[in-house]
Amino acid sequence: MEFIFLGTSAGKPTKERNVSSIAMRLDQSSECFLFDCGEATQNRLLYTPVSLGKIKKIFITHLHGDHFFGLPGVLSSRHMDNVTSPIEIYAPKGIKKFLQTIEEISQMNLDFEIKITEFKEEDKFSFDSFDVEIVSLKHSIESYAFLITQKPPLPKLNEQKLKEDNIPPSPIYAKLKRGEDVKLSDGRIIKSKDYILESQKPLKVIISGDNEDPYIFTDYKDIDLLIHEATYTKEVFESLTKKQKHTTAEDLAKAASKANIKNLIATHISARYSLIKKEGGHFIGEIEEEIRKYFKSTFFVAKDLDRFQLTNDGKLIFKENLQSHIFL
Ligand SMILES: [Zn+2]
Ligand SMILES: [Zn+2]
Repeated sequence: MEFIFLGTSAGKPTKERNVSSIAMRLDQSSECFLFDCGEATQNRLLYTPVSLGKIKKIFITHLHGDHFFGLPGVLSSRHMDNVTSPIEIYAPKGIKKFLQTIEEISQMNLDFEIKITEFKEEDKFSFDSFDVEIVSLKHSIESYAFLITQKPPLPKLNEQKLKEDNIPPSPIYAKLKRGEDVKLSDGRIIKSKDYILESQKPLKVIISGDNEDPYIFTDYKDIDLLIHEATYTKEVFESLTKKQKHTTAEDLAKAASKANIKNLIATHISARYSLIKKEGGHFIGEIEEEIRKYFKSTFFVAKDLDRFQLTNDGKLIFKENLQSHIFL
């Protein structure tokens, strides 16, 4: 399972970071799934291996502009790329009106169908490679998290044992994988269960929208990865005259620790935090430092175009930053 962060800034973009969007890819599927689609998401996608035609589903956490103003651009460029396969959009109520209005005003005349689902709390969706459950959050408007449970890929065969028992590769292998027992030409009957390796536990990931109460996730067990906002450090949050309904790095770290989250990625960092230390300015390292104090498992503060892999045994690995591709 792989995640590419297309935008990690909260509210508005900076020169270094764009607004929210994450691309998810699964080992067993060539499709790509977008979670949020802030303005200029399509621009960030140009520096990744993900083409617009590969995007078949888009999930929107909530209808604040920094999470979905990029949708019209993605859809119209998908049309210009001559993509004809349908696209599914899952979002809170209001998205239908938004898209219908844009389509009408700009005469998009798309060559593909848009299937829109306006979801609500506790809705569940089942797809070929994963299930999604909608979790309600606390924010200034309706906001949701997606609890993703990966469907385990087809089980692997014990090839060593097959070889030892003199069963060469043939269509028999596919039958064994599907759980069927097989009669061989020499009369032997072999049982599928004797040749299947124990399958991995399905991975569970939460991709959260904006939220002021990360303790909501203490109700969920065995979460391999939580992707959640950490808009401010505690110090900055406390200095705000108008309190925003967001989470601080400290609260996220404490809640993730209490919820026994195995791996954590913080994103949606306020635009005031720069990637470079500047005199008198805030630095993204402050967020990192604050999380480190309270969360002792693996975590990262995502930067735009960071690519992470969550392995089948639940390890989170930073693979690369695709930023260097920008100048290619
Ligand atoms: Zn936001
Ligand atoms: Zn918001």
